Amino acid sequence: MLSVPEMIIFIIAVIVSAYLSIRNFRKMFTIIGHGAQPIDWKNSCKNLLKGIWVFISQTTLFNRRPILSYIHAGIAWGFVLYMLVNVFDVFYGYIPALSHFEIPYLTNFYRIFVDIFSVVVMLGVMWFLIRRFILRDEALTIRDNVQMHPNAQSGMKKDSLIVGFFIMFHIGGRFLGESFHLAANEADKFQPFASALGQLWGGCSADSLVISEHIAWWFALGLILAFIPYFPFSKHAHLFMGPLNTMTKPEKISPATIETIDMEDESVEQWGVGMLNHLPQTQIIDAFACIACSRCQEACPAYQTGKELSPSAIEINKRYYISEHFSDLAAGKFPEEKLTDWLFSTDAMWACTTCGACIEACPVGNEPMVDILRIRQDAVLMDGAMPSEAAQALKGIENSGSPWSVPNDAREDWISEDLNVPKMRDSSEVEYLYWVGCAGAIDDNAQKVSRAMIQILEKAGVSYAILGNEETCTGDSARRIGNEYLFQMMAMQNIETFEKYGVKKIITQCPHCFNTIQNEYPMFDGNYEVIHHTEFIEQLIREGKLTIENGTIEAITYHDSCYLGRHNGIYDAPRNVLTSLPGVGVREMPRTKDNGFCCGAGGGRMWMEEGGEKINVNRAKEADSLGCDVVATACPFCFTMMDDGIKEINEDGAKTKDIAVIVAERI
Ligand code: SF4
Ligand code: SF4
Repeated sequence: MLSVPEMIIFIIAVIVSAYLSIRNFRKMFTIIGHGAQPIDWKNSCKNLLKGIWVFISQTTLFNRRPILSYIHAGIAWGFVLYMLVNVFDVFYGYIPALSHFEIPYLTNFYRIFVDIFSVVVMLGVMWFLIRRFILRDEALTIRDNVQMHPNAQSGMKKDSLIVGFFIMFHIGGRFLGESFHLAANEADKFQPFASALGQLWGGCSADSLVISEHIAWWFALGLILAFIPYFPFSKHAHLFMGPLNTMTKPEKISPATIETIDMEDESVEQWGVGMLNHLPQTQIIDAFACIACSRCQEACPAYQTGKELSPSAIEINKRYYISEHFSDLAAGKFPEEKLTDWLFSTDAMWACTTCGACIEACPVGNEPMVDILRIRQDAVLMDGAMPSEAAQALKGIENSGSPWSVPNDAREDWISEDLNVPKMRDSSEVEYLYWVGCAGAIDDNAQKVSRAMIQILEKAGVSYAILGNEETCTGDSARRIGNEYLFQMMAMQNIETFEKYGVKKIITQCPHCFNTIQNEYPMFDGNYEVIHHTEFIEQLIREGKLTIENGTIEAITYHDSCYLGRHNGIYDAPRNVLTSLPGVGVREMPRTKDNGFCCGAGGGRMWMEEGGEKINVNRAKEADSLGCDVVATACPFCFTMMDDGIKEINEDGAKTKDIAVIVAERI
């Protein structure tokens, strides 16, 4: 089909495009390679099939925005198909006789498939362009109070336009070319859309159809050659960087788990992440994988309540900063700028509740929350910078063993006279350690949960004991705030106590303690079977060790704790306990389970002041709107936040109760 001069020009264009693409891709991967922790390629290879599956199935899209996800998947599948189509079209350009080449069924199938997908992709892209530029969907914009790279806002629009028009013109060009070809020859029942379009060119001369087909061929394939070198600067790179991201993420027990820092290693000059090149390589990939869809932002409780934090802005800012300094960064020249100078504001850094919703929502496996945790480590350990209330809580943990600054020897004060609670120091030959936790020992409301748990354990005849005054903070808040040193100190101290009593199984009523002991103590050789109290109560009911009697509650809704649900996948046990209560109906909130909305207390936020709309009030409105008698919780922090929130909006609203208290009232 191509003339000889066209063939030569195309080969030159391929060489130029390949040169520019290799240069830009090499720089992109060199920048990633400057990251602090090398990618574990051995592990990544094991994840190869997972990456391919994510690429082919697009499954990570479907947990939110179902209709848009199907449209996006249609575009992605069509685009992947077009990679193959492009190869065939190049061959056709050089060997036109190939258009007569037929493999029974297969070529017909190919033609109809390409014809349909061309239309699907063009309609899908058109819809996305309308959504972004005409309807200006708010979900795709980032509020003005969020710190953005100066090039980001306009750059995102420009990039969306370039990507949108590239796909439209690339696929449209090819589709048009096919219609000219069919008009010059004969209609094809296996290309109904292109044939229909070809009808329009019925009055054109044979020569003009040939010229038009040539122009369309160049348009479709020339655009690809122009676009490939642009990939590293475009969000379109998510097409392959997303699956690569999935492959290269290290295995984790829970999303909030970050690697330990060797505090003893005196050669280490940097703790946490202060600058771009301190980020692990896989976190730099996040920037290239980001599609700027803002699903993470939509799920983020901090953003949704007006704070300066947007998880999508984190990845977008990273991307535009990298683009701005692309050649310098590739050459290893990293500007002496701290991430807190340009990635986000200080308020944004401290607004994160570490709820993990951004990670759950992200279709390409990005982890903005993990960046925040690491940058907090730099702020706290390197600069000693943190909000004063957070510093106060850390001081309490360090000096008294609890963020409440209540000393350890007051940890048995919750035990009322009517309770005979066994202590490890008297009888460590027990099956379970009941870990009461700081809140359970100190906070008035959580103390009720501790007493309810004793009632349950006694009733079910469980062999257990508590540590009492020998218990100290797990260090969860210290780690989330960024004081790794203090966290490790608390972890070592608790592990030493566990070892002293030969502890094997631990029951906790606090998801934060649960997460820390179960997922983070193994990093210090503290390996235990940790059971959350809702799981344990569920088990006791299932085994017939607890008989639940009738009560007065008719309707309950359950608020998912992020550290129980999203971070540890425990969604069913609390619900199973509630549904086992006779006469009780359980109503789900709209934002539930992995789509649940944080109470606002995680990540050390429990100890910090909150400005603007409060996260707990936002959630309380949702819970209270269901008209239930009770909002059930399974976490002392969630209890406080939901209880305060509901009282703030409706004095006569639902009562907040921990699941253990609800059960203890009925046994
Ligand atoms: S962890 Fe939660 S609060 Fe923090 S950025 Fe992600 S969604 Fe927002
Ligand atoms: S981080 Fe993930 S969810 Fe957030 S904008 Fe980027 S791709 Fe979308």
